[in-house]
Amino acid sequence: MVKVFKFGGASVKDPSAIQNVASILSRYPKDKLLVIVSAMGKTTNKLEEVVSAYQRGDEHTFMSLVHDLEDFHFQILQSLFSDIHFKIYGIIEDIFDQLKLRFKKPFSENFSFEYDQIVSLGEVLSTHVINAYLVERGFSSVWIDARSLVRTDNNYQEGNVDWKKTEELISGSVEPLFIQNKILVSQGFLGHTPEGMTTTLGREGSDYTAGIFAYCLKVESVTIWKDVPGMLNADPKLFEETVLLKQISFKEAIELSYYGASVIHPKTVKPLQNRNIPLYVKSFIKPEENGTVIQEKSDFDSLVPSYILKFEQVLYSITPKDFSFLVEENLSDIFKRLADANAKINMMQNSALSFSILLDRKKVNPEEVLQLFSDNYHVKYNEGLELITIRHYDESTIQKVTANKEILVQQRTRQTARFVVKKIE
Ligand code: ASP
Repeated sequence: MVKVFKFGGASVKDPSAIQNVASILSRYPKDKLLVIVSAMGKTTNKLEEVVSAYQRGDEHTFMSLVHDLEDFHFQILQSLFSDIHFKIYGIIEDIFDQLKLRFKKPFSENFSFEYDQIVSLGEVLSTHVINAYLVERGFSSVWIDARSLVRTDNNYQEGNVDWKKTEELISGSVEPLFIQNKILVSQGFLGHTPEGMTTTLGREGSDYTAGIFAYCLKVESVTIWKDVPGMLNADPKLFEETVLLKQISFKEAIELSYYGASVIHPKTVKPLQNRNIPLYVKSFIKPEENGTVIQEKSDFDSLVPSYILKFEQVLYSITPKDFSFLVEENLSDIFKRLADANAKINMMQNSALSFSILLDRKKVNPEEVLQLFSDNYHVKYNEGLELITIRHYDESTIQKVTANKEILVQQRTRQTARFVVKKIE
């Protein structure tokens, strides 16, 4: 049976990281591996800047960013491949040549379309480099193009997967490749429209790709290799003491990522749960350690409280101007306006006269929200807030995380306590 492995940007950020990927793969001599890879290091962010420069028509910045990326990739090639005549040099050069030529074409009306055509190149580059390196090291490995296997709709930058078509494409063409090869290397984050144009699945979407391939091929397991020991009960950058969650259920993993735990992309788990495929989160620094396993059984879910913090939150209170009560009609009007503006609600609450929502300051500007509702509603807002979610809470953990904070909103269910707080200065 096949195992799916996913390596993110940090695990392929430089030559020694790529050598480490090869040494992890060599630990699995008996398995067939489908390896999903992200763009190297910070390439995706850089490519986003390339798209902005292209949109502005700023040729100087465009070319200088592309040259930086080219140097970055060629330095990696030079460390990994001694001979400049290796085919991989030509492949990478061609991709950069095509990218430079793109500037000559006018930027179309559709920003998201242009974004996907350019930003997708990060994964195309990284997978070519990694596959070539594996072949050079003697692995039986072949490069496959996720852009022709994962079918999405035309929603550029956030493609919605057409599962039926994707399953048809993947099982028809990927399974036969395993007869000749032990390793297949493909790109995370990418798909294609029915017309064959490249799409992306949303930032951090490579985990999701691993879930898509795993579901379609009905694999044995998926492993996401990370720079942390597994899923922790809190972000180690924010909490001094964290606990490794050794085993949790699919349902718990979905809840944690829904509330904002950033270890796995929220959409990844559902396809695996549907086919009961276990998901491992393991450290690429210490691959011999067990990490976390996410599977059906939920016996261990409530053993450790988990904390999820979201910063730079804005709490809006929306009241109909005509002083009518908040009932289904105006609630659905409010939701429609928010959905049209692509606003993602982190928390909500209503009273008879007002509806409160919490949004990320970075994603939606308060001015936009005021504008969105100005015709029929009064909107007040409060900035600089924090959203604290505690799964499997008890009173002492609540005391600890809310100390020295003013609580503006709180919600509790049996498993989850959530607080919108402001730091007391
Ligand atoms: N390279 C993409 C990103 O940085 C997708 C991924 O790495 O998951 O968002």
